[in-house]
Amino acid sequence: MKVAVVGLGIAGLSICARLALAGHDVSGFEQFEPGHGRGSSHGDTRIMRLTPGEGELYVRLARRTNTLWRTWEGLAGRPFIEWTGGLMAGPRGSAFVAACQSASRTPAAMMRGDAIHALTRGAMALPYEWDVFRQEDCGVIAADAARAFLLRQAPKWGAKFSHNARIAAPIAGTTLSVDGQARAFDAVIVAAGAWAGKLLPEFAGKLAVKRRVVGYFKTETPRLLPVVCCDDEAGVYGMPASGGLYKFGFHAIGGAADPDAVREPDASDEALLSEHAEMMLPRHDPKPVRMARCLYTVTPDENFLIAPSAAHPRVLLFSACSGHGFKYAPVFGQFAEEWLNEKPSPELLAFMRGGAGVNRLGATKS
Ligand SMILES: Cc1cc2nc3c(=O)[nH]c(=O)nc-3n(C[C@H](O)[C@H](O)[C@H](O)COP(=O)(O)OP(=O)(O)OC[C@H]3O[C@@H](n4cnc5c(N)ncnc54)[C@H](O)[C@@H]3O)c2cc1C
Repeated sequence: MKVAVVGLGIAGLSICARLALAGHDVSGFEQFEPGHGRGSSHGDTRIMRLTPGEGELYVRLARRTNTLWRTWEGLAGRPFIEWTGGLMAGPRGSAFVAACQSASRTPAAMMRGDAIHALTRGAMALPYEWDVFRQEDCGVIAADAARAFLLRQAPKWGAKFSHNARIAAPIAGTTLSVDGQARAFDAVIVAAGAWAGKLLPEFAGKLAVKRRVVGYFKTETPRLLPVVCCDDEAGVYGMPASGGLYKFGFHAIGGAADPDAVREPDASDEALLSEHAEMMLPRHDPKPVRMARCLYTVTPDENFLIAPSAAHPRVLLFSACSGHGFKYAPVFGQFAEEWLNEKPSPELLAFMRGGAGVNRLGATKS
């Protein structure tokens, strides 16, 4: 089948690789250059959680994705995930932290926040009364390396990539306008991240685009700082980053954005990041070495939205962000194949129905 994939972030790349491997004639289109920093997939690291607290659907998805990450690692000849362990934390009684504990295959006891200072030998501090669950099956994905692998591997399987090639909006069927030229396909998959609502306006009301800023902090003790996901109002999360730095961001702070006009990180972002860094990373310089902006595309219940267009059933919206999609990327290619073959798995069906039965559990997602 002749398939177009619009957008070459982590979702589009995974879809192109899998469909090309399955023998489809795949063309992937990206409006910017490889490795650009204007969407959602750039940056060196992402958090991997094998027993996520967002519900049973995501626990099943995490098992699927973990097996596929091993396949990618085998092909690439290098690991993509470093299993560092992590701390799932939140105010006492946090449903998210409790869900992480019950999803865990080897549930440890719940700790109080005051234990973290000793556990990290003073490198990290959390509010003393918080619930904290130490999750071993949690780690850091080498995100840059994973994207670079797919950019190399998918063309080996026959995928054709066009960068700096913008698909005209709106998409109205399986004939696309690529830089003014009409190109016809049998099916179109729109993995356009924050731009998806512009390309497929029928979904725009369900896809809120949000600006996010992350800060990179210099640490004296990078090995002592684990992944952390906080179920607080800000949705603070942190993870080791390359160069001995620690990356820190907010799941829940940042305003609405037009993906074509995003404000660069500024002094107000720095002040907010520094304020939280000062509290959580007491032995470190609270001034970020650098900052980067990123876009979330958030659905009302924070589940992925994967659905065919009502008017053009061979056009599929593939929106897999809400701030927690990277870890599941290897499954996205399988989902695209299931859709083309009209054999959706229960997991894909759940997202096609709008994530029925999956509840939003709190601010934490990474
Ligand atoms: C700050 C931040 C932290 C995150 N942390 C984590 C984490 O720790 N763990 C985790 O699992 N997930 C995390 N996520 C979520 C994860 O990164 C996203 O789910 C994922 O990157 C989404 O990828 P995507 O391919 O759907 O979107 P994108 O990466 O945005 O890709 C869409 C692409 O489509 C292109 N495009 C758009 N319109 C057109 C057009 N008209 N023509 C051609 N190309 C077009 C864009 O240029 C873009 O490259 C985080 C996200 C952010 C922003």
